[in-house]
Amino acid sequence: MVDTLTPAQRSERMSRIRSRDTKPEIALRKALHGLGFRFRLRKTGLPGKPDLVLPKYRCVIFVHGCFWHRHPECKVATTPKSNTGFWVEKFTRNVERDRRVSRQLEDDGWHVIVVWECDVDTHAKALSTAAALSQELHMRLAAKSR
Ligand SMILES: [Zn+2]
Repeated sequence: MVDTLTPAQRSERMSRIRSRDTKPEIALRKALHGLGFRFRLRKTGLPGKPDLVLPKYRCVIFVHGCFWHRHPECKVATTPKSNTGFWVEKFTRNVERDRRVSRQLEDDGWHVIVVWECDVDTHAKALSTAAALSQELHMRLAAKSR
């Protein structure tokens, strides 16, 4: 089959795939739920539509795809060899947007946690990442109520 998509079309299509419920995100959600956390999904009205929102902890969690959001030093965060300029520009925009969104949320008093997809792409990794998050969240809650 001949690939007739322009880079922009392909990018659009891939980002649509990305924005559906991804498996790593579901794995993390289940693991956190198993630890007793209750959260809302993609609460509208928040900058960047965080994947998980934990109002009690005033915390939001983004599950970032390593490729699209450029996980530093991750083997998944490659740059395609063709249309490199297009991709570099796109990646730069994504990273800048992530930074801007984080800043907005933090200015509003949210604690922002980024989880990389490669840290939750197996059941075991999702469990250990959730355990680490749980510790962070509990410490945060304890600090807040002090
Ligand atoms: Zn990664």
